[in-house]
Amino acid sequence: MRKLFLLLLAVITMNMVTAQRTIIHCGQLIDVKTLQVLKEMSIIIDGNKIADVQKGYTAVASGDKLIDLKNRTVMPGLIDMHVHLESETNPGKYMETFTFNPADFAFQSVVFAERTLMAGFTTVRDLGGTGVNISLRNAVNKGLIKGPRIFTAGKIISSTGGHGDPTNGYKKELMGDPGPLQGVVNGVEECVKAVRQHYKDGVDVIKITASGGVLSVAKSGENPQFTEAEMRAIVETAKDYGLKVAAHCHGAEAMKRAIRAGVSSIEHGTYMDEEAMTLMKKNGTYFVPTIIAGKSVADSALKPGYFPDIVTPKALAIGPKIQSTFAAAYKAGVKIAFGTDAGVYAHGKNWMEFVYMTEAGMPILEAIRAATLNASDLLGDDRVGALEKGKFADIVAVDGDPTKDVKSMGRMKFVMKNGVVYKNE
Ligand SMILES: [Zn+2]
Repeated sequence: MRKLFLLLLAVITMNMVTAQRTIIHCGQLIDVKTLQVLKEMSIIIDGNKIADVQKGYTAVASGDKLIDLKNRTVMPGLIDMHVHLESETNPGKYMETFTFNPADFAFQSVVFAERTLMAGFTTVRDLGGTGVNISLRNAVNKGLIKGPRIFTAGKIISSTGGHGDPTNGYKKELMGDPGPLQGVVNGVEECVKAVRQHYKDGVDVIKITASGGVLSVAKSGENPQFTEAEMRAIVETAKDYGLKVAAHCHGAEAMKRAIRAGVSSIEHGTYMDEEAMTLMKKNGTYFVPTIIAGKSVADSALKPGYFPDIVTPKALAIGPKIQSTFAAAYKAGVKIAFGTDAGVYAHGKNWMEFVYMTEAGMPILEAIRAATLNASDLLGDDRVGALEKGKFADIVAVDGDPTKDVKSMGRMKFVMKNGVVYKNE
């Protein structure tokens, strides 16, 4: 009887060890911590987590599932720190505010979320929409639809007439007077209230528009649009709820105020000067460049009638400048996390940012680190961003070697998120 019991125990234990493991044989594996390309490696996956990363091609036991990526370059699931999944640029976009119901945004966001995941981006930060992006995150988390892990800001927080005021350019009757509930705030008290409202709405991060922006129907693309005291109130309140603050910003004065107020990242950063870079290094503020968005709006602005007249000159002036700012900031040693402003250009082309980053002098392995390890640091979530024991099994692979051909980042052949394979070509 005792012998039988021990035998049974042994069988059960063996099953527990061998059951449900997936082994990936990786021809090349990018180690984002050491910035090395390792040859002939294996990743062992147990459920939704990485159980181990081993040298050589680990033998496959019976019951194990093998995924052969011997002719691919494997890396951690990519992270885009700046996307807008609810919408996508088109000449009629400014009309959507009047013609779209929330369901219209919702249905197209489902398509954009899947496209983003299939491009190898297993985690994104959605930095602003109508609030549908909160439901989108929930639907992905429930497994109802295919999409990346989403950290959402819900609606943008802006001052009256600021870049994120949703009624800019409307006629008087439609303009009304939006308040903290709509993300439009003035003065410290309303700033505090808006952050608390966002917490109540269920956001993961706060997004503010510290300066003017390109696509809003307003004159300046760079003027300061918050006082330092207002931004400090937002940052301090956000901290109470465990939320980080991302600041959209083009102008230098607005940028310095935002950095001193304690925001975690500067988005776009077009007119960043030396003083701003020094402040960012001192405070540990991240720069999320979005070079592709700048180039894309500048291209669109050349098409007659694509943007309202007030937007076109801003797009032409600001758009092309981001890449050289990125080059200077990289040289100066500012911390950089990968972000693209997807939605301002077509979703799924996020990888092109790697091309622009390397053009501006950042080696591809560092750019990949910006889209993995650095991004997870800025997110404040160390469960993603590297291929290591204990991390989520978010694993992607491209055709070719990015260190020899950066465009291989656009040939995404394998996507696993949370241990589930979404693509394997
Ligand atoms: Zn944006």
